[in-house]
Amino acid sequence: MTSAANDAVTIVTGGAGFLGSHLIDSLLADGHVVLCVDSLQTGSLANIQHLAANPKFEFLEHDICQPLQIDQRVAAIYNLACPASPVHYQHSPVKTVQTCVLGMLTMLELAKQHNCPILQASTSEVYGDPDVHPQTEDYRGSVNPTGIRACYDEGKRCAETLCFDYHRQFGVAIKVVRIFNTYGPRMRPDDGRVVSNFIVQALKGEPLTVYGDGMQSRSFCYVDDLVSVIRKAMDSDPKFTGPVNIGNPNEFTMLELANQVRELTESTSELVHHPLPKDDPKQRCPDITLAKETLGWTPKVELAQGLRHTVEYFRQL
Ligand code: NAD
Ligand code: UDP
Repeated sequence: MTSAANDAVTIVTGGAGFLGSHLIDSLLADGHVVLCVDSLQTGSLANIQHLAANPKFEFLEHDICQPLQIDQRVAAIYNLACPASPVHYQHSPVKTVQTCVLGMLTMLELAKQHNCPILQASTSEVYGDPDVHPQTEDYRGSVNPTGIRACYDEGKRCAETLCFDYHRQFGVAIKVVRIFNTYGPRMRPDDGRVVSNFIVQALKGEPLTVYGDGMQSRSFCYVDDLVSVIRKAMDSDPKFTGPVNIGNPNEFTMLELANQVRELTESTSELVHHPLPKDDPKQRCPDITLAKETLGWTPKVELAQGLRHTVEYFRQL
């Protein structure tokens, strides 16, 4: 980062992951100097290798649970570090809690020290298995605190608490965005989430694994729409803290998704039903009124179009 060493740096934790790497592309395109901080737990250097020669980009392999000393001026912090797929966050649940809570503390301390804003990638999972539908930001959720998803759900809830306490107690500028299911290129083939699973299975001609009866719903947002609203949230009025729901409110059952993927890939794969994982939310759909009104944003990419881009990506792997 030598040629840009005098510029303030924007930190993206989790920047070698799916969402983080797209966010970094967007920041660099607008001339920001970016430091990607990632432990590579679920991320991959392949997601950022195209940036290696960019003088405004630097990669630091680092676990955000450990203190981080940055000598340069820090302009802003996007805290995305955390495995997001249920398969991966449940693989090492204690580590997931540490990343959510200790990692958040570390990054908030850094924001306080540098007097810079911090955006927290929170999640629709703070609503658990919701009994309010669609979910609005004032709904307090229905999370099983001792279940297998709690390491992530409760970890992210505590991270939100820490953000608001640092804001109230120390005046740290925070932006808490609650991200709903997002998909696109650079998801890992073994990520375990439904969109990548179905696409990879369809392209290999394997059966698509539908958990339960497939009537549970999700609302899928294409990654470009998500990055655009994350950037808008960071650049919003300093008084705006969130939490704000971000995602695409068009809702689909997993059976509908499976059929769209089969059509787009022209696959003859069968559907095979597997047991529904414990505590799997039955429905999820964001009310995005706040994001529309405050950030002037609406998602633009329809599911079929986003799936087409994602299928193309997986075809080329
Ligand atoms: P991802 O697994 O592709 O990326 C997460 C990145 O964080 C990886 O590169 C991983 O190596 C890194 N990481 C994990 N623990 C770390 C640690 N302790 N220190 C440093 N780096 C660490 O997942 P994603 O889909 O890109 O999600 C990014 C963020 O967005 C996560 O915080 C996730 O909770 C949040 N989010 C994503 C979605 C979604 O649908 N993609 C939905 C809600 C919330
Ligand atoms: N799912 C599925 N088949 C898969 C993977 C997931 O039917 O191969 C279901 C899962 O049970 C859930 C939905 O798809 O109801 C979304 O799962 P995902 O892991 O993508 O994200 P979640 O919203 O559960 O965090």
